[in-house]
Amino acid sequence: CGIVGYIGEKQAAPILLDGLEKLEYRGYDSSGIAVFDGKQIQMKKSMGRLKVLNELTHGGATLPGCAGIGHTRWATHGEPSDTNAHPHMNKDSSIVVVHNGIIENYLKLKKKLIDKGYEFQSDTDTEVLVQLLDYYYKGNPFEAITKVMHRVDGSYALGIMFKEYPGEIYAVRKESPLIVGTSNEGNFIASDVPAILKYTRNVYFIENEEIVRIRENELKFYNTDEEEIKKEYTTIEWDI
Ligand code: GLU
Repeated sequence: CGIVGYIGEKQAAPILLDGLEKLEYRGYDSSGIAVFDGKQIQMKKSMGRLKVLNELTHGGATLPGCAGIGHTRWATHGEPSDTNAHPHMNKDSSIVVVHNGIIENYLKLKKKLIDKGYEFQSDTDTEVLVQLLDYYYKGNPFEAITKVMHRVDGSYALGIMFKEYPGEIYAVRKESPLIVGTSNEGNFIASDVPAILKYTRNVYFIENEEIVRIRENELKFYNTDEEEIKKEYTTIEWDI
């Protein structure tokens, strides 16, 4: 029920674990992080408290890399388990997704993908998103993301990484909350401001069906027609 993401000059994993802790108030049954070191995307996830994930990754030390996405799950489809925890990856670990929300038409999409030869690991609605991204991805992340957005019904806030684009995280939302934070030491995504307030007070509020491309030193916002949108950040004045 929470998402965080970071790309910048620091190690991502400790920032992700810290951010997820700040989102604990939203409730969760499992958690996980995926970190990209520019060569491979590595992931660890587990049922239970964040403490378990912290111990599994030695506070993030076992997952080196300066880009990553993290998730706390409140199961809606598929029981709480290590396998059903997010992130979810495609078969060759080249696309990774974290998702808050519900994909209403996932059974129909899952059946279609299975007919095309896709194998599913989990019982979640979320996994159709990553398999569908894999199906549509032909080298252009935007094209794949917008095609998926046109096919799925429901609510979502997503953090996505593509192995072919090491310097980038993609984020989109529809009916589930998502913000983007910006600082001199990197850029962030999160479900809510407290997750990143320690690192920055400059926050963009993402609207429904907006797509964000996040790089270490650059943020770009688009609509589903892949047209760029200009946005201004808000400076948060309050403290946790
Ligand atoms: N529907 C997804 C699942 O059950 C995401 C739940 C959430 O928002 O944490 O895996």
